[in-house]
Amino acid sequence: MIFDILTIFPDLLQSPLNESIIRRARQQEKIRIRITNIREYAFDKHQMTDDRPFGGGEGMVMKPDVLKAALRNVPRTGRSSRVILLSPQGETYTQKKAVELAEASQLILICGRYEGVDERFVSRYVSDEISIGDYILTGGELAAMVLIDSVTRLLPDVLGCSLSANNDSFSRSLLKHSQYTRPRDFDGDNVPEVLLSGNHKVIEAHRFIDSVEKTLVKRPDLLANTRFSEAEIRLLKQHDLHDSIMAVKKDHE
Ligand code: SAM
Repeated sequence: MIFDILTIFPDLLQSPLNESIIRRARQQEKIRIRITNIREYAFDKHQMTDDRPFGGGEGMVMKPDVLKAALRNVPRTGRSSRVILLSPQGETYTQKKAVELAEASQLILICGRYEGVDERFVSRYVSDEISIGDYILTGGELAAMVLIDSVTRLLPDVLGCSLSANNDSFSRSLLKHSQYTRPRDFDGDNVPEVLLSGNHKVIEAHRFIDSVEKTLVKRPDLLANTRFSEAEIRLLKQHDLHDSIMAVKKDHE
């Protein structure tokens, strides 16, 4: 996977791209990250990447001609490249979208600044507009990082254990079960006994029920999309959870 980032603040990204899993994935050539400084494609001696809005109003708008020149410079690689504008007006980012993007061979991420990007550039060159939530950031760089991080961990062999991304919260519209580590007794609060039993089937059932209960309390909206197997439905019934889930599903349909 190749990530191209188009930004006017390339230094802002250095630290997060050089730590932890992203760093290892780069070293192992599972991902490549290239940064384009949009300013280098400005046409005037002041290297202006933005200008005043036609029709008046506050702030500055990123120039379409400069963005086009910067985008043209990005080599297209592999079978499928997508041009993504990070934007508060975009589709809200989800784990499902991360899985979809992980299928691409190249993601070109355009980081807006100021009041945003000239609409003509957006309509001609952008394939996806993505928002990381209903709030306003100063620029698209942190949003681009969110996307790179979440997509990278889904790529084959990036995480130490190949299964762990599949078990993360949201991977099947359920929050992840509670987790515990040493010490067994933390200020008088003990780890659930069943986790010490060594019986994997019982542990799996316990974790499933915990995960459903957590989702019911913290994010009941997710349950509208959760599908359960017959064995899981039997477990839900044994724990008197089935009726509450059906009711919540109905509420969030
Ligand atoms: N005036 C714009 C509006 O109200 O829609 C907000 C512009 S914001 C200050 C500057 C840039 O930050 C945007 O062009 C976008 O690239 C990025 N940005 C801000 N909030 C974002 C969000 N929630 N998700 C993704 N990108 C965001």
